[in-house]
Amino acid sequence: MTLPRFSRFSRILCVVLALVFCLFMGACSRDVAVVEQTGMIMEVTVARQNEIEAVISDAYTTTEEPTKAEQGQNCIGLTEDDLPDDAKIVYLTFDDGPSSNTQRILDILDKYGCGATFFVMKSDYRDEYKNIVDHGHAIALHTYTHDFYDLYASVDDYFADLDRISDLVYEKTGVRSMLIRFPGGSSNSISRNVCYGIMSELVDEVENRGYSYFDWNADSQDASGNNVPASYIYESSVSCTANRIILLMHDTDMKDTTVDALPDIIEYYQSQGYYFLSLNENSPTAHHGVVN
Ligand SMILES: [Zn+2]
Repeated sequence: MTLPRFSRFSRILCVVLALVFCLFMGACSRDVAVVEQTGMIMEVTVARQNEIEAVISDAYTTTEEPTKAEQGQNCIGLTEDDLPDDAKIVYLTFDDGPSSNTQRILDILDKYGCGATFFVMKSDYRDEYKNIVDHGHAIALHTYTHDFYDLYASVDDYFADLDRISDLVYEKTGVRSMLIRFPGGSSNSISRNVCYGIMSELVDEVENRGYSYFDWNADSQDASGNNVPASYIYESSVSCTANRIILLMHDTDMKDTTVDALPDIIEYYQSQGYYFLSLNENSPTAHHGVVN
């Protein structure tokens, strides 16, 4: 009578022991899984760490920070109306082109997503007038001859020259530009040797005829000599802290160092939160004081 009870107790005990064993094994196998899983995480972490270190070391050796254009912040074609009221803006302006350097300049502007303005004159690179427009920049009128003694001989002589460059640009681009820059700026004193008081007449007369003329409030100094070092052009260009900067630069065959300095100039102002726009008739004009 006791044996069956003992047997039943044994069976119950066995079942209980079996359950305990299974629970123990289950716990063990979970531990194994956790250990395996942890091992895998460790492996991924090490691999990821190596990857991150490779990226970091790459950043310090070969890769550059993405440009504003690469970040989708392209300003080409924008106006001040598209930006916040307190936006800081640089207007890059290139005088005396087009030239053999125009395409290099356009490539840099594309890369950084910068609008700019080209005050052009007669040139052997006549396809570049259209190229400038096709890249979304403002084409503006500087002069046809750039000969102060012809240009500033009289009001009629000035407009005869202006009409020639205006017609040439229109023929090549279909754009009738009303944006101009006087050779030497409105403050040039050389014209005094040609015709006394000519600039005082011209600044009024161009506006009477519907033009907007632009001087500058920042000078890259790239016309201060031949082969001006890129570092000097850079330092001169980034010295302005105004909220609206019209920066004078030149686009000529000889001014390779202007192009060399351009990426650093753009990067500096972009790092300071500036946008780069093309000029239009509503843009600030930075007029100089007329001295003749
Ligand atoms: Zn010029």
